[in-house]
Parts: sequence; structure tokens; C-alpha cells
Amino acid sequence: MTKQIGHYIGGKIVVPEGARKLPVYDPGLGEVAGEVHLGDAELLDSAVKVANEAYQSWGRAPLSRRARVMFAYRELLERNIGKIAKAISEEHGKTVADAAGEARRGLEVVEFACGIPQVQKSQYSASVSRGVDTYSIRQPLGVVAGITPFNFPAMVPMWMFPVAIAVGNSFILKPSEKDPSASLLLAELFSEAGLPEGVFNVVQGDREVVEAILDHPGIRAVSFVGSTPIASYIYRRAAEQGKRVQALGGAKNHMIVLPDADLDAAADAAVSAGYGSAGERCMAISVLVPVGETAEPLLERITARLADLRVGYGQEEGTDMGPLVTREHRDRVAGFVANAEGEGAEVLVDGRDHEAAKGKGFYLGPSLVDRVTPDMELYKQEIFGPVLSVVRAKDSDEAIDLVNSNPYANGAAIFTRSGSAAHRFQDEITAGMVGINVPIPVPVAYYSFGGSKDSLFGDTHVHGEEGVKFYTRGKVVTQRWADERIPGVDFGFPQT
Ligand code: NAD
Repeated sequence: MTKQIGHYIGGKIVVPEGARKLPVYDPGLGEVAGEVHLGDAELLDSAVKVANEAYQSWGRAPLSRRARVMFAYRELLERNIGKIAKAISEEHGKTVADAAGEARRGLEVVEFACGIPQVQKSQYSASVSRGVDTYSIRQPLGVVAGITPFNFPAMVPMWMFPVAIAVGNSFILKPSEKDPSASLLLAELFSEAGLPEGVFNVVQGDREVVEAILDHPGIRAVSFVGSTPIASYIYRRAAEQGKRVQALGGAKNHMIVLPDADLDAAADAAVSAGYGSAGERCMAISVLVPVGETAEPLLERITARLADLRVGYGQEEGTDMGPLVTREHRDRVAGFVANAEGEGAEVLVDGRDHEAAKGKGFYLGPSLVDRVTPDMELYKQEIFGPVLSVVRAKDSDEAIDLVNSNPYANGAAIFTRSGSAAHRFQDEITAGMVGINVPIPVPVAYYSFGGSKDSLFGDTHVHGEEGVKFYTRGKVVTQRWADERIPGVDFGFPQT
């Protein structure tokens, strides 16, 4: 019987009868691996009720208790990384090593959340006026929700729920319907760690349940990560309902290589950042910008490295790059390469011709496309596949202008040996995450992750201190106690 993938509500797996279902594929084999049951407004409402009930005590649980549960969760995650990685690889297609890497980045957010008693500390000012003290507190919001994309089925949810739960909220996760199984493992392990039933829930589904989340009056805040058109829609609709919302969108990350750069290091970086996880990373490098005479020697080095790249099944030892997530997505990405060729770009390495692309799985080899110009669809659209576009720039000014003219602004990187060029880049670039000789500058868990422009709708980034702020509401208390040393009653605004 086909594997049935259900929800996780109130501390147990729920598989309702008669729900709509969608097939979940093993993209490496091109076969159905399971069926995911899709939630609806009624199921979501039942999850919100359970979450809200659990919140009544979890929201008041002592900090030490919350921290202890996070520590226990951390240990369990560590022990189960292999299992989580296998579940990811099976439905996403990425290599098991890459999947384990993503689970580890998620685990780092749990480690950050273990320190919640320190991070959730507030401020206190004694004697702001005679006999008056003022202090701030941050309180949880209640029931909050996260809606996540297919490309990081463990890490992206873990950008959200460990911090949200550590500060005292209950959480409802709506994972991608393309690779939903990892979310259930994460939920089960959290229960095993001692998290009370109903604090962390998973509701599977598609657009129908997302709309129910956005409109549900019992959900106070929504975190979203996905493509830009959906992020923009989520931001507007959730904000209209009075919810706090952060919506991270798509990306088009550029890597500038200046003539003084170490070209071998830059070529290594371009290959791993351009083709790792088959380019299905929001921080993947999709545009290479060689400056001046850099193009020829750099492209030669990248082409040579691509010949050694092993494309294959993610669960097979030695694979560098797995398939794309669906057949439709693979065909769409291949279509962009064809389109660019038609528009005059030069396809130096053509992934469509790769041996792996001829099999049953959703494979596409790596493509390297030179002489791409900003008016081509390959440049304008987010490709989200193993395609590196090369836009040549005559100097640094032109390169920086190109990056800043792009509507996306998630990450951007520069490769150079010049400190002043790097400083200028850091100051002038509009991207939210900047790499200097680092192609994928994903911030560590105790900093916050997020871009700007069309890559982020809302103000707050995820995890780190901004995550704590997003999932809590601030209050400022001004207090005065009767004190015989301060005679009289003052009916005015206290001043001195
Ligand atoms: P997606 O936008 O298709 O889906 C994201 C989520 O939204 C899923 O849970 C999906 O079920 C839901 N959804 C899809 N269509 C919807 C609709 N019409 N109405 C309501 N909900 C809908 O994204 P994806 O294909 O799963 O993921 C890839 C995208 O995510 C890329 O654009 C990538 O850049 C982006 N991403 C961004 C970041 C970031 O940090 N900025 C991180 C990871 C992924």
C-alpha cells in the first residue's frame, strides 16, 4: 500500500478519512513515494483549538522548563539526523549529505532557542522619576503559523518554530505538499523531548488550507517562505486580517568576481553555490558576473569542474547533484535554457544533453550559459535549477549597478583580494545577506536571515533576535509603590 502522509495534531498523527490527497514523488526514481492528505478549513480550525488550549499553559511555563525541553529536543535531533536526512532526500531528491547539512542548520536554531532565558531578557530602569521604575517585558502572541517551501523541508520550518515555541507560543506548520514527511519526524521528536501535546502541530495541505490559515482569527502571526508572487499575496492578505506577518520570497543571487580574485577559489565557489542541491536553494548563486578580463579564465575553470560533477540518485554514495523536485519543474528549467539560446546566449555546458536527463527521474545536468543579458527571460525570472547565467561586466560600477537593479535582493557575493572593493560592495549592495569571498552567506542561527525588496515582504528577518521580536509582543511597565520617604500625592505626570 502507498505510504499515507497525515497531519500531526495534539501530539499524534491524524489521517482523516475521505480527504483530498496528492501524490508525493521520489524525484530520483520518478515514481510516487506516498500520498499526502490535504487539510481544509475545518481541520485547521480543530488544530487551532488544540494549539490554543495548549498555549494556555505553555505560554506561562517557566523559562527554565521551556529551555529544558529545547535541550532535550536538540539531543534527539542530533541522534536522528540520519533518519531526517533520508526522509528529505527521498521526497526532495537532494543528496543525503546535503539533507543532513540542512537538518544541522535547523538544529543550530534549536541550539539558539536553548538559550531563550538569556535572549528573552528585558530591560529595567530604576528611578526614572521619584519612586518610579520602568521595565519592558516581551510576551508570546498565542497561536502562530508557518507556511514553508519544498526546497528545505526541515531547515526552513526550523527557522521558525523553535524560536516561536521557545518564547511561549503554540505553532501550526503547513509544510510544502511536495515533501511533507520530514515535518512529521520533527514533530514526533519534539513530543518525545517533552513538549506538551498541541504546542507544535503540522497541518498538511495546499492553497485551501493556506487561505484558512490567513483568515483564521485565532492565528496571531504568520511566517511564510516561498516564491515572490505567493509571498506578496500572503503578506497582503494576512496583514489585512490584522496578523503580524513576515513573508520571505524568491531570489536571484549574483556573484561578482573582480580581476584580482583567486580564480580557483571563485570557480570552486561558483560550482558549489550554483549547482549544489540542483540550484534549488534560495541562496544559490544563479548569476555569475565576471568583471573585465576575468570571464575567459574563470569560465574555463568552471567548465572543467562541471565535467566531474556526478549527477544521480541522492541516496547513492558519491552523488554530487540530485534531480529537480518535479518533472514539470525540470521541464520549465530546461525551457529557460532553450529560450536563452534562442535569444542569443551561448550555452557553454548544456544540462539538457546530460546522460542523467534521459532516465526516468526528474534529472537535468548542470548548464552554464554565457553572454546572458538583463533583458533575457533567463535573467529576469527566478530559475531555481542547475543553471548558472553569466552576465559580463566591464567594471565594478557596472557589476554593482546590475545587482542593485535586480528586483530581488536576498544574497549577493563578491570575490576579490581588495579590502576596499569588499567594503564598497558591503556598503552599496541592496541584498540583505552579503558574502565576501563566501558564495552563500547564510547567517548563523544567532544572527537573522532575510533579504529585502522582492525577497522579503515585512520588516523582520527570521531567527536570531529578530525572530524573538517577531514572535513576542513588547510591553513597557511603569511602576510606583507607596514609599514613606516620598511624601504627598502627585496628580500630574511624574517628572522628577
Ligand atoms: P511556493 O511559493 O510555490 O510554495 C511555498 C508555500 O506556499 C507552500 O507551502 C505551498 O503549499 C504554498 N502555496 C503555493 N501556492 C500557493 C497559493 N497559490 N496560495 C497559497 N499558498 C500557496 O514555493 P516553492 O516552490 O515551494 O519553493 C521555492 C521558492 O521558495 C523559490 O522561489 C525560493 O526562492 C523560495 N525560497 C525563499 C527563501 C528565502 O529565504 N527567501 C528560502 C527558501 C525558498
